[in-house]
Formats: sequence, C-alpha cells, structure tokens
Amino acid sequence: MLKYTDFAGRLATITADIKKTCKAVGRDEREVKLMPVTKNFGAAAVEYAQRAGLGAVGENRVQEAAGKRAAFGEEGMRWELIGPLQRNKVKVALGIFERVQTVDRVALVEAMERQVEALGLGAYPVLIQVNVAEDPAKHGVAEAEAERLAERILAGGKLRLEGLMTIGALSEDEGVVRSTFAGLRQLRERLEGALGIGLPELSMGMSGDYGWAIAEGSTLVRVGTALFGQRDAAG
Ligand SMILES: *Cc1c(COP(=O)(O)O)cnc(C)c1O
Repeated sequence: MLKYTDFAGRLATITADIKKTCKAVGRDEREVKLMPVTKNFGAAAVEYAQRAGLGAVGENRVQEAAGKRAAFGEEGMRWELIGPLQRNKVKVALGIFERVQTVDRVALVEAMERQVEALGLGAYPVLIQVNVAEDPAKHGVAEAEAERLAERILAGGKLRLEGLMTIGALSEDEGVVRSTFAGLRQLRERLEGALGIGLPELSMGMSGDYGWAIAEGSTLVRVGTALFGQRDAAG
C-alpha cells in the first residue's frame, strides 16, 4: 500500500487531468465525479479517500466490502457496489452499500425488491449495468434488453433507477473503447425518451480510459490502480 502523500499526489494529477479533459471537450468539471475503487486494498485505502475529501468508494465484492466497512466504521463515507451481485448476497449487500451499480437481470431486481421490502428501506438507488461491448466475459444486460429491465425496475417502485453503468471494451484502440461509452450515452438518451424519466448518472471510465469516457459524457469515473497503485491479491 502506498503512502498517503503518494496517494494525494496521484489524486491531484488525476483531478487536474479530469479538469483538463472537461475543458477540452466543453464540459463543466462539476458534472464529473471521481470514485476511488478500493477493492483489493484494506480499510486504509478507504481512510485515504475520506481524508482526501472523496465521499464515496467503489468495491466489487460483497464479502470483502463487509469486512472493510466493519473495520472502517460507519462515518461519512458512501459505499457502492461495482461488481456482480448474487441473489443470495442481496441482503448483506443492501446493508453495506448505499447504491448498487450492477443491476443486470430481472431475477436480481426481484430479489432486491424483496429485501428492500423486508428491511423496510425506502426506494433503493441502483444503476443498470449494460454490456455495451458485448463481451461474453462481462456481466451486464445486453443493450437490447435494457429497456425492458428499466421498465421492470420502474414498475416495481422499490428501486430508484439513477442511471447506467458500463465497463469499456478491453482494447487499446480509442475508437473501439469510445464507441462503448458513446453507446451507453445514446442508450441513456433512448431510455429517457422512451420511459419519460431522467437518468442522470453515467458511470463509465476506469484508470486506463477515463479520459475517453469523460469525452463521451461520463458523470462518474471509477478509478483504482491510477490512485492506489497495482492491486496485489493479498490486499
Ligand atoms: C476494478 C474496477 C474498476 C477500477 O479499475 P482500475 O483499472 O484499477 O482503475 C472500475 N470499475 C470496475 C467495475 C472494476 O471492477
């Protein structure tokens, strides 16, 4: 784990880069939030994020986040799930995370609704994860199925659909990666029109491609290694 001062230096570089990119593409920098991804790092990474004034962290495993959240305590940090969610972990997940970004199938929506009801929660914030790149190794609903899933979420009334999330195509080619992000933005526009709702959040962009994601309309970039260094499995 790197030292806090190194983390702060990396954060300053990335923040400046985000600003520069926003300026270059004519966007207001306040539209783009930076979410530190603390997976595979201990609770110290969450403390770094908090100390730097970042209000939310992304985690991709329920079990790992549960331990970290217990170690870190409750104060002043939002936790969001950015990895796949199994139905048998929904109850635990709803107790840990303030938002789930990876809703991608009706069975999961149903399981979440049951727990929201059982736990007596209000409308629980979610994003739909879309597999725009059609990568068989990735989770996420197919683009063609996204509208049906969104309709199902709205009909249930127990989850609050705040937007869409995707992972960029695994490619070095700017055009290929950007077309994933453009695809998510265009899908958002279609869904907003078809369903008559606002979907303000577009969660897209990671360490290697957040600049391209911002150029294509990202409102939330999820950055791990560029902030914290290489993850080692021992975490
Ligand atoms: C790990 C992860 C990230 C961060 O990836 P980096 O390349 O380390 O920035 C972002 N989003 C998701 C869904 C992830 O699993």
